[in-house]
Amino acid sequence: MRKTFRGIAVSAGVIIGRALVLPDQEMLVIKKAIPEENIAAEINRFNEALENTRIEIAAMHAKIKKEIGGKHSNIFEAHLLILSDPALSSDVVKHIKSEKLSAESVFSRAVNRLVESFANIEDEYIRERTNDIRDIGRRVFKNLTGSIRETLADIKDEVIIFARDLSPSDTVTMKRDKVKGFCTDLGGKTSHTAIIARALEIPAVVGLQNILNQVRDGETVIVDGSLGLIIINPVEEDLKLYKQKQEELLKQSAELSKLRKLPGETLDGYRIELNGNIEIEDEAKLVLKHGATGIGLFRTEFLFLNRLDLPTEEEQYKSYLAAAEIIFPNPVIIRTLDLGGDKFLSHLGLSKEENPFLGLRAIRLCLARPELFKTQLRAILRASELKNIKIMFPMISGVEEFIKANKLLEEVKSDLRKANIKFDDAMELGIMIEIPSASLTADILAKEVDFFSIGSNDLIQYTLAIDRVNTNMAHMYNPLHPAILRQIKIVVEAAHREGKWVGMCGEMASDPAFSALLIGLGIDELSTAPVAVPEVKKVLRSVTMAEAKNIAEKVLALNNLEEVKKYMLSVNKGSCKYCK
Ligand code: PEP
Ligand code: MG
Repeated sequence: MRKTFRGIAVSAGVIIGRALVLPDQEMLVIKKAIPEENIAAEINRFNEALENTRIEIAAMHAKIKKEIGGKHSNIFEAHLLILSDPALSSDVVKHIKSEKLSAESVFSRAVNRLVESFANIEDEYIRERTNDIRDIGRRVFKNLTGSIRETLADIKDEVIIFARDLSPSDTVTMKRDKVKGFCTDLGGKTSHTAIIARALEIPAVVGLQNILNQVRDGETVIVDGSLGLIIINPVEEDLKLYKQKQEELLKQSAELSKLRKLPGETLDGYRIELNGNIEIEDEAKLVLKHGATGIGLFRTEFLFLNRLDLPTEEEQYKSYLAAAEIIFPNPVIIRTLDLGGDKFLSHLGLSKEENPFLGLRAIRLCLARPELFKTQLRAILRASELKNIKIMFPMISGVEEFIKANKLLEEVKSDLRKANIKFDDAMELGIMIEIPSASLTADILAKEVDFFSIGSNDLIQYTLAIDRVNTNMAHMYNPLHPAILRQIKIVVEAAHREGKWVGMCGEMASDPAFSALLIGLGIDELSTAPVAVPEVKKVLRSVTMAEAKNIAEKVLALNNLEEVKKYMLSVNKGSCKYCK
């Protein structure tokens, strides 16, 4: 029977294939007593299983490091740490002795307890660490019992994986030529697994809640990773539609890849910098693959998520330098930490807030925790040796805040000079414009900074008073609201008067329906999701600046959102998702 489900779209693309359902294999707590004389042998067996698991993980670590780089392989270092946690090793030995129970009994109980203690933690990112513990638990259990879960590395046929959740190690070890997509009950947009799916460009939908009970092995499924839609047992019409969609996507990408080496410029030769947004340094390769020039937004806070400790200066330095090396000689704009809001870290010792988006977020948090901020600034400055890095502060609300942040940056620079550590002294410094108080004082801010980058996601949220993660209000979230368009104009004019450039790195920049309008409003740089680069480039290369300016003028003269939507729908010949 045909069934459809909606989840959270985390990695775009369409795939039609056969389901492989990975049963949720929680470890059974089997209470098995052992005679006194077997205790020593039991402890040996347990230690051997731990050692074999360590060897397996170390091998996986080396393999992944070679294949996709250091960042993802760090997961395994964390796994090795969990393995040496006393709760999982010496405590188990102690209880085998005192309770005279089998290693499996004591070990499975210890893992389940550890998982439970994590499951009650409010912080989503820490909670997601339970996957790592489960993952380790399963591996040790397998080495103890000899029962082998079909690992994703052993899959023979092309499949779409359905699982309650996938651990990061499942995701990085899966055979990429066989696993064509995946769907999970759990997970969110920022989980490591979702980030890796995007980096590998595998269509994925997560947060499906109860999909495991709805799908059987071998059933045909369609995964639409762009819409977050799953169709189980599709009917002939679905298959026809999605095969067409796949063909269109293939054709489009072949067509668009021809644009890869061409610059982002209008028909009459106006150059627009076309950059990509990244969350982890490996994505820099994707940015180039899709034909962008550089990186317009490196969301550095992702290095801080999904872990229990803070990244060291060295770790941050390596990550920034890796991105700068991949993109060299083109620019990489590194945004300083934007933690807070929906990216909460409980280990910073901060209290939960009623309205986190209006609370201690981004630059506010960095100013409140200068040691955290200065460590990051040192790492960025040290990585600037190739001279292609620019720094950008998020959530600046006014000039005082910028001055305070810049003072800390100057302090770090002076420390580096004293220590004879090289950095790019001429590095450009910009701010994100994402709060109306910043757009309304853009004339003052423009005198202080080298550039602006408009963060439309937050600018819309704060201007229209619509929580960007609240699905109930999503229908009112619209970049075409006259209040947004007017602010863009104010910001561009203020910057240009001071000879400064203005970019946009919010999602509005990724929508090709807005590309002509944005350059017509005077935006100099667009930084989009890597996959969006070719389509945006195509639009830029099909208009003249005069046409773009005409669109902007017409739109600014309109009185309300409905009129703007109607006009933009006609400009885009019906293809504009925010116009309907
Ligand atoms: C934005 O707000 O538009 C932006 C690019 O920043 P983020 O989405 O990371 O808040
Ligand atoms: Mg923002």
